Amino acid sequence: MPRRTTQPPRGGKLVCSFCGRSEADHALIIPGPDGCGICCDCVEFCNQIIKEAMHPDSNGNASPSLPELKVPIPSEIKAFLDLHVIGHEETKKVLSVAVHNHYTRLNQECAQAKSPKKTDPYADVEIEKSNVLLIGPTGCGKTLFAKTLAKLLNVPFAIADATTLTEAGYVGEDVENILLYLIQAANGNVKAAERGIVYIDEIDKIGRKTDNVSITRDVSGEGVQQALLKILEGTIAHVPSQGGRKHPQQEYIKIDTHNILFICGGAFVGLDSVVKRREGQRTIGYAGGGVAAAPSGAENGNELDKRLDVQPEDLVKFGLIPEFVGRLPIVVSMNEVSEKDLVRILTEPKNCLVRQFQKLFAMQGMELSFTKEALREIARAAVARKTGARGLRAVMESLMMDIMYEAPNDPTLKKVQVSAEDVRRILKLTAVPAE
Ligand code: ADP
Repeated sequence: MPRRTTQPPRGGKLVCSFCGRSEADHALIIPGPDGCGICCDCVEFCNQIIKEAMHPDSNGNASPSLPELKVPIPSEIKAFLDLHVIGHEETKKVLSVAVHNHYTRLNQECAQAKSPKKTDPYADVEIEKSNVLLIGPTGCGKTLFAKTLAKLLNVPFAIADATTLTEAGYVGEDVENILLYLIQAANGNVKAAERGIVYIDEIDKIGRKTDNVSITRDVSGEGVQQALLKILEGTIAHVPSQGGRKHPQQEYIKIDTHNILFICGGAFVGLDSVVKRREGQRTIGYAGGGVAAAPSGAENGNELDKRLDVQPEDLVKFGLIPEFVGRLPIVVSMNEVSEKDLVRILTEPKNCLVRQFQKLFAMQGMELSFTKEALREIARAAVARKTGARGLRAVMESLMMDIMYEAPNDPTLKKVQVSAEDVRRILKLTAVPAE
């Protein structure tokens, strides 16, 4: 501890022994023994150096160590997902466990690095990262799952589109740009980004284009898979700070991807035939066969459950390289959203479309409601678009456009109820008999 010296400072005035400033420069100097002193700015600077030495980030820069994440238990994670995502019970369970394990492992690693426990019998066991692959038709909620998990854990979140990526050196985006989006989502805090979640959409589109060895390079298919391997597994990546392509004069941000959770998603159109072919082959092989391998759905006793029992070999047949499949150990196959679920999506989540429109009407002093049949008609119109729940917004927009145009014409109108007939008339649908 610096203490007030009993000896007078040299020349009669206190001087900072580090930067040379004196009290005359309006610096607050803490005197030490034998005429030494240190100003408050230098104390601040020393603190910074100590912080860097104790917890450097991958760039070796000062970066305050982050507090431990509060990791909810799987059932808590599922309960949160239930509030935002309709249906997909199995997917919720699998993701809840996967995310719980991922962040528990991350917390454990941080705690171990700060104060290593000598008695830990598992000290030399390294738990590998488990990235996730979500297989499901467009608009079934894959992105929503990733986004909701990031929201629950309060970690940075970025979405990337695999179709925009190409192998380094070719027209398109370098894979490292994915990490730049994450750093930007973390407001430039690399340490925070290092424990974020990245959702890579359309991962099925970077499948090998053909089984034949081609003389032209497959720069947007297998080349991208190769480039993604290291990032998914865990590496210190060099990200161009300005984005775009790498070049030698550029500044790079170093980011450690070991603890970033990658969730990849895709529709994998055609994968069902690959799975069926394999299952068929297996059935043919059975002695005294004749029993077709049951689709995974049947195990749940749910007729609508069309989830595929996807094996790594199916993904390789589809066009993913085995090493890439190996980096995505958790594979979840999802159902398309049913008409019933679409009605629930319209009305149940906190920020559901019906409530959004009700709020708009309430702002104009009107109460908006929909009959049950009207909601069913809206869902039916969305199913016809074949874009899952994504179709709901487009359907609601074109439906409500007419109603929002007409309603304010009558200033006495306080209640607006949308009927099935209104939906059919405005959207030009034909009636179907109720079940
Ligand atoms: P995907 O990534 O599977 O193509 P998204 O997650 O982008 O689909 O979903 C598209 C839209 O539909 C989003 O607005 C999302 O909130 C909504 N949505 C999709 N599935 C669900 C679901 N199961 N529950 C609630 N909303 C959903």
